[in-house]
Amino acid sequence: MARTDARTAHATGVERLLSSYHGVPDGAPVRLAKPTSNLFRARTRTHVRGLDTSGLTGVLTIDPVSRTADVSGMCTYEDLVAATLPLGLAPLVVPQLKTITVGGAVTGLGIESTSFRNGLPHESVLEMDVLTGAGEVLTVSRTENADLFHAFPNSYGTLGYAVRLTVELEPVLPFVALTHRRFHSMPELVAVMEGICQTGALDGVTVDYLDGVVFSPSEGYLCLGFRTAAAGPVSDYTGRKIYYRSLQHEAGVTGDRLTISDYLWRWDTDWFWCSEAFGAQHPLVRALWPRRYRRSRTYSTLMTYEQRFQIGDRLEALKGRPPRERVVQDVELPIERTVEFLDWFLDTVPIRPIWLCPLQLRSTDRWPLYPLQPGKSYVNVGFWSTVPVGTSEGETNRRIERRVAELDGHKSLYSDSYYSADEFDRLYGGETWRAVKQRYDPNGRLLDLYAKAVQRQ
Ligand SMILES: Cc1cc2nc3c(=O)[nH]c(=O)nc-3n(C[C@H](O)[C@H](O)[C@H](O)COP(=O)(O)OP(=O)(O)OC[C@H]3O[C@@H](n4cnc5c(N)ncnc54)[C@H](O)[C@@H]3O)c2cc1C
Repeated sequence: MARTDARTAHATGVERLLSSYHGVPDGAPVRLAKPTSNLFRARTRTHVRGLDTSGLTGVLTIDPVSRTADVSGMCTYEDLVAATLPLGLAPLVVPQLKTITVGGAVTGLGIESTSFRNGLPHESVLEMDVLTGAGEVLTVSRTENADLFHAFPNSYGTLGYAVRLTVELEPVLPFVALTHRRFHSMPELVAVMEGICQTGALDGVTVDYLDGVVFSPSEGYLCLGFRTAAAGPVSDYTGRKIYYRSLQHEAGVTGDRLTISDYLWRWDTDWFWCSEAFGAQHPLVRALWPRRYRRSRTYSTLMTYEQRFQIGDRLEALKGRPPRERVVQDVELPIERTVEFLDWFLDTVPIRPIWLCPLQLRSTDRWPLYPLQPGKSYVNVGFWSTVPVGTSEGETNRRIERRVAELDGHKSLYSDSYYSADEFDRLYGGETWRAVKQRYDPNGRLLDLYAKAVQRQ
């Protein structure tokens, strides 16, 4: 779409959003009606009116000189990356799932293998237009309505909806050369990760991308990526081969190469490894599964049906087994407490593999609703599966919350949470949230953060 067409479509989209907002009877709460979602909690409150987001999905402009992109709030990273890669550019952090939107990653947080040097997606936002609960569209930035700008990350749409964002981009090269290093112990793995976070390099060579996977206490891998323009053969994990399995080896180090596009989406094809739950990794099923449906969106749609009809629990019951508790979480530990967490987790929670992704804030800005300390390294630990139910609701999730808090960590809010209101308030900047809510959504048209994140409204 030409630039002016994109701008016109965006302006029409904003008008539709506003008219759907004003069409809701006064005082009634609203939420976004989006065609996709990467939230992982079922809603108990379903009667809230949805706002029209059609027309707010496009890339508006990309400026290769200032290395910025202007996008509508519901633009997916899949669409943004498709527009930036031909110019040799990419967002500073590209969350792994193609349907995550720029607005969603900023308000609900995101992370990827550039986060050890680029921080989190909200840090590369220069300015946003936000529809507030008061029904106005305001521009917010570090200098304009700065209280809303800084409280927006981790507010999950309770302070306003981003309808347009200007984000920074960085140069990329056509290929990523990968090195997968095997470790037989968690302390060794985390020590090497910490060294890379501190210096940005390993053995004197600059590392561009860094994440890792743990299969067992004695089998973990760090996956180091290096930008390269050198031509050569590349692997393809969108077909029969499966990316996460390619990491496993006996030798100390193996290498691989991917196109930059396949690297950025390496985890989308099999939703990390979660496609296994749908049989999509069985060679026969995989051969029959159309390639275009090998993507996270397919699995998250199937998961929605699974949740709605409790298919998993019914199958367990047919086998004479009790239902299972869903444990789908990403938590952040200070890097110096990560080994303690991993030892505890691997000993206590029967979920494998687990994903590791280091991060460090990019600037000294403070983000009060998700208060990570500038200059400090953290490790995101991701685990997405089920465990046998315990004696109380959410037993394993609650134990994880307690352990993370004991180790001074944080937990993302895209999935189930069980905190008390007081604890939630203390952990997620309650005082700031209330002050900003009072200013920009005085009549409470948008939902309450605790109600949304913990009470699943
Ligand atoms: C299994 C799983 C794995 C995940 N793994 C990763 C990962 O590896 N890396 C990563 O970065 N993230 C990951 N996430 C988290 C994901 O990035 C966040 O949940 C993100 O908020 C999803 O964005 P979305 O665009 O899909 O938003 P949605 O899921 O549609 O919405 C999320 C929340 O944000 C609000 N919202 C959406 N758009 C806007 C907007 N424009 N303005 C204001 N509020 C808005 C919604 O109201 C809702 O409360 C994972 C999530 C799941 C379920």
